[in-house]
Amino acid sequence: MSSLANNYNRRNISFKRGKGSFLYSTKGVKYLDFIQGIAVNSLGHSNTYLNKALANQSKQLWHVSNAFQIPEGEKLARRLTKKTFANYVIFQNSGAEATEAAIKAARRFFYLKNKPYKNRILCIKNSFHGRTLAAIHASGSKKMTEGFGPKIPGFDHFTFGDHESLKKSITKKTAAIMIEPVLGEGGIKVIPKWCLKGLRKICDQKKILLICDEVQCGIGRSGKFFAFEYSGIKPDIVPIAKGIGGGFPLGAVLMNKKVATGMTPGTHGSTFGGNPLAMEIGNAVLDKILNKKFLKNVQKISKYFLNELNKIKIEYPGIIKEVRGIGLLLGLQLYKNQTKFIEKLEQNKLLTIRAADNVIRILPPLNVKKLEIDMSIKIIKKVCKEYK
Ligand SMILES: *Cc1c(COP(=O)(O)O)cnc(C)c1O
Repeated sequence: MSSLANNYNRRNISFKRGKGSFLYSTKGVKYLDFIQGIAVNSLGHSNTYLNKALANQSKQLWHVSNAFQIPEGEKLARRLTKKTFANYVIFQNSGAEATEAAIKAARRFFYLKNKPYKNRILCIKNSFHGRTLAAIHASGSKKMTEGFGPKIPGFDHFTFGDHESLKKSITKKTAAIMIEPVLGEGGIKVIPKWCLKGLRKICDQKKILLICDEVQCGIGRSGKFFAFEYSGIKPDIVPIAKGIGGGFPLGAVLMNKKVATGMTPGTHGSTFGGNPLAMEIGNAVLDKILNKKFLKNVQKISKYFLNELNKIKIEYPGIIKEVRGIGLLLGLQLYKNQTKFIEKLEQNKLLTIRAADNVIRILPPLNVKKLEIDMSIKIIKKVCKEYK
């Protein structure tokens, strides 16, 4: 019946509107939405402040070419660099584009150092970096790459947690290591602080670049602006997307000075990337997230939520194997396949989404209220109780 291609297993619900943590279906059912477009709506649905920013900018200017100065983008880039390790930004429209730009920047860096053979990117097997041809090969997942023609060369893989295979996989052809500080699609696996520190050290020793893909875990989702901040390291390149647009398609790659130097006129571009409308919304998202109290509150509510989830785990030890995550990027790993559990949560009006490793991902908006966390806890408990 649908004219949409069948590349998604879509659930049989559609929504008419959303407000904050809640979604209202076309059938009039109210859901607590702890998916938020997969960590995209950082300020929840239909946020009043973002609505105003969108409406105001839409009356001024939507789109001009990057052939011109775009002050709204200058402002957003300045704020992103002031807040982080980065010195320069290239705006894109999505996460996959941002990771592609990251890969390009890393290769270009060594090309200009007269080391064009240094072009391989070392990634974690079955991680997730997007769906473009290069990004699926960066992910190294058979399921994602199967049937899509010749393997795109230039990617090597090591297994999550296997430090020996990581070290062995670095050759003189390696340009960069690219990791997600928290593997999102891969099952909310947090790379420990000391591992990120070790990765930085290896990159320094081998004189290669470190790319932290913060498309999912960045922009406050982890409780810090970037998840890698917990380890105190500085990466060289960071692709971002999801949370920075608060629901508007927006991606970017952040780079330190030495990397950005190679990205000269003509090396990279995007028709839509960095347009005034997207930039103003990005700025509005930052107005909220960069507020001093905002991330403190994410950390506080995360601590409370994690504690409550762990209590449920203890109460139902046969069902929940592990509570995972940081900030509001959380996961419940079940002993059994999680699909039925997610369905039960949905029947009880709580929306969550799967990740690999039998994990249920829980992604509230970053401004979620304690009361809403309590609602979700009640539902999760109820489903555990009835679950067989
Ligand atoms: C979602 C995601 C991407 C891809 O983003 P798209 O906007 O879907 O292209 C890349 N990397 C990570 C870590 C992601 O979670």
